Amino acid sequence: MPAASNLSPKTAPRIAVGGGGITGLAAAHRLLELAPGLEVWLIEAGPRLGGVLQTENVGGFLVERSADNFIRTPPSAEALCRRIGLQDELIETNPDCRRAFIVRKGRLHPVPEGFLLMAPTRLWPLMRTGLLSPLGKLRLLCEYLVPRRKRTEEESLASFARRRLGREAFERLVQPLVSGIYTADAEKLSVQAALPRFAEMERTHRSLIRAAMHEREAAAAKKTAAKAGKEGSGARYGMFLSLRKGMSQLVEALAGRIAERQKASGVGSVLLGAAVSRIEKANGRWRISITGRDEPLDVDAVVLTPSAPQAGGLIESFDAALASELSGIPYAGSVIVAVGYRRDQIRHPLDGFGFVVPAIERRPILAASFSSVKFEGRAPSQHVLLRVFLGGAERPDLVEADDDLLRKTVAAELQSLLGVTGPWIICQIYRWKGAMPQYHVGHLERLARIEARLKEHRGLHLAGNAYRGVGIPSCVQSGEQAAEAALKELRVATAQLA
Ligand SMILES: Cc1cc2nc3c(=O)[nH]c(=O)nc-3n(C[C@H](O)[C@H](O)[C@H](O)COP(=O)(O)OP(=O)(O)OC[C@H]3O[C@@H](n4cnc5c(N)ncnc54)[C@H](O)[C@@H]3O)c2cc1C
Repeated sequence: MPAASNLSPKTAPRIAVGGGGITGLAAAHRLLELAPGLEVWLIEAGPRLGGVLQTENVGGFLVERSADNFIRTPPSAEALCRRIGLQDELIETNPDCRRAFIVRKGRLHPVPEGFLLMAPTRLWPLMRTGLLSPLGKLRLLCEYLVPRRKRTEEESLASFARRRLGREAFERLVQPLVSGIYTADAEKLSVQAALPRFAEMERTHRSLIRAAMHEREAAAAKKTAAKAGKEGSGARYGMFLSLRKGMSQLVEALAGRIAERQKASGVGSVLLGAAVSRIEKANGRWRISITGRDEPLDVDAVVLTPSAPQAGGLIESFDAALASELSGIPYAGSVIVAVGYRRDQIRHPLDGFGFVVPAIERRPILAASFSSVKFEGRAPSQHVLLRVFLGGAERPDLVEADDDLLRKTVAAELQSLLGVTGPWIICQIYRWKGAMPQYHVGHLERLARIEARLKEHRGLHLAGNAYRGVGIPSCVQSGEQAAEAALKELRVATAQLA
């Protein structure tokens, strides 16, 4: 096996990465980090790198078009930021108001402290919440006594949450909190695929309350209780990070690192506005056709990161069954309407990071994030940036709605829920059609079939948000794992695997 540092431009294997979103960037970066002389081609169909990640400066506001933060676990995204020199650019959420709200009958109620998506770590705040009726609270407490499910096949989030916590807690707490993350229909979302931690809690501790209490005690024993005690409601907000100048900073830093390595070795390239249009097997290698290029590119391995149906379309000619599995993964769309106001135009104290709206409230919006409260530097002084989410699996019509209707809807909702008055200073609309994969019941079985088919195609690797996690850390992990698998398969000796 040649040592990584000895790879010469003439003998170095050539690897193509299709798609330059965060997954493709993480894969290309990992390949060059571990094997600096490798010939890596990063091929992106769009005019810029980053995929859905993009930060804009609009009228003094720093606006994210899609993701505005990432969680610390798995640690892959934070670790990557640190490895590429962004450690001083990482920012934490504002420690003063780490909580969120849920709408009930037109009013915002704090998520009960310590309620982590489905697992209550503290019971007293649940007993005092205005979000549940006395009967709903009693039923939630009975979770402690609900027996463990015997069947092992995948279960929908709605069924899991109703069975364990009761219908009211599902409709009023779980559905809005989880839909805020997955923009999904809870009746179809697989709890094992999307939120495996909770299925595991039931499996190991029988009850979510028991499991959450156990974890809390274990954390206290490790003397992290001080941190845990500051946890806000709904999610552990201290666990979320962003970058001082927004998510584009991560994209630019990765692109810079990749370019530096390619320049040093003199091989490889980043192609923009160049889509992979076809992949074929050719003499034990892979032949990649690229739009706008006459000659195909022959490579030793390929990492594909476009959406699952797009990846399926590229490989259909040699594995129709795999293509059909990939095309079967459904996607949902959403719209973000980002609005900037003067602080004095909003009556609500904005003493949290945002709110989510239960489906049973029958309102046209899914959630709103108080972006400039959550992270510093998002709005000019005495101003506020809000991002309102619409659409999702349950309201696909709103992704297609015209701008005027979206603006009117958002203005009316913010006036009614937050007491907003007067015109906004900025209003940006970002549409994300089919951008969010939906891990429906059966997703894990589908993944097993996809992985079995992939074993037949040495050198072909799939990565991205369609498979084992939609968040940025999961995408980074997926891209890096695909890169490592490709190097291992090609028997390229790597620099220290860190
Ligand atoms: C509105 C929204 C909000 C989100 N909020 C958060 C959040 O706050 N925190 C979080 O952790 N996650 C969030 N996510 C999820 C996360 O941002 C995404 O899952 C992740 O960025 C997807 O990265 P990716 O590289 O896998 O895919 P993408 O970003 O979709 O990139 C895929 C790339 O492949 C390219 N491509 C497609 N076909 C081809 C082809 N044939 N040849 C070459 N290139 C091709 C595309 O042009 C695209 O650039 C959010 C997602 C959305 C849509």
